[in-house]
Amino acid sequence: MQKERVVIIGSGPAGLSAAIYTARALLKPVVITGTQLGGQISLTSEVENYPGLFNPVTTPTGPDVVALMQQQAEHFGARLAFEEVTEVDFRTGPPFIVKTHGQTYSADSVIVTAGASPKHLGVPGETEYVGRGVSYCGTCDGFFFRGKDVVVVGGGDSAMEESIFLTKFADKVTIVHRRDELRAGLTLQKRAFANQKINFIWDTVIDEIQGNGVVQEVLLRNVKTDKVDTLSTDGVFVFIGHYPNSQFLVNQVAMDEQGYVITDEFMRSSVPGVYAAGEIQDPHYRQIATSVGQGVAAAMQLERWLAEQE
Ligand code: NAP
Repeated sequence: MQKERVVIIGSGPAGLSAAIYTARALLKPVVITGTQLGGQISLTSEVENYPGLFNPVTTPTGPDVVALMQQQAEHFGARLAFEEVTEVDFRTGPPFIVKTHGQTYSADSVIVTAGASPKHLGVPGETEYVGRGVSYCGTCDGFFFRGKDVVVVGGGDSAMEESIFLTKFADKVTIVHRRDELRAGLTLQKRAFANQKINFIWDTVIDEIQGNGVVQEVLLRNVKTDKVDTLSTDGVFVFIGHYPNSQFLVNQVAMDEQGYVITDEFMRSSVPGVYAAGEIQDPHYRQIATSVGQGVAAAMQLERWLAEQE
């Protein structure tokens, strides 16, 4: 059993920011990285919207930003454990138990930053073209589709909001929705219908994404008629929902019906000494900057809580 003051679960912007702050408070945090060091930004080709990192000549990539945050956290004394959490026991602590395949940690406090994952379509070509035309983030990648045609999948608020955002860049946005009515709220629906650059293909799903190094076309199938069509496109944006990576927290902390960890304004979970930050508790913003802020807030609050316990 390895005894720690702070265990941070997850290594995205929230986790690494919490690591920097707790390390600078001399708490020697351990960051259990999960399978993807850096989380979702590791999949982002270029990061242009994170304040302070702008460089018009060589735009930093997602992995560049992760490497900088990792370097900063380790410089101040954080240790990264390249493992995945398999199980936790927060019910009897502190100390709290965090298990990975190879190690069991006993921690005085925990910050959970395991993030969320965009739901995927699961069609041929999707994984192959991630970062080469397939995207799950309009804010991150919209700029690269200036003057191009893109397809958006989904009929919810995210799909409408992101489609409207994408019209700032793309010449044409085609929303492919599997039903003949939208799930999105009326206000967003009206804005999408009124936008001259947006058109809709109803009752239709994408069966395959095809290209030659980059996305070139999608195979569409009408679910009512089974008619198959090909549509040329430069990009496919998938907005069919996210799911929080909180399966290992079931019965450990309070969550909402979608599995997001419930926190208060101090990033406290329902268990004193266990904090949550980033997308595992935030279904609204999903930005590097907001996750960084939440990770910092959790770290500062945890530091105060630990001091109070002594
Ligand atoms: P969502 O509301 O769950 O909508 C997901 C959409 O994707 C639905 O239209 C769904 O179709 C479609 N879909 C799901 N699986 C699919 C699949 N395998 N293939 C094709 N289409 C599929 O998700 P969201 O739009 O990300 O919104 C999540 C939450 O955040 C909602 O509560 C939303 O109101 C909120 N939100 C609010 C705002 C805002 O207020 N400005 C902005 C963004 C998000 P069906 O309709 O047929 O189920």
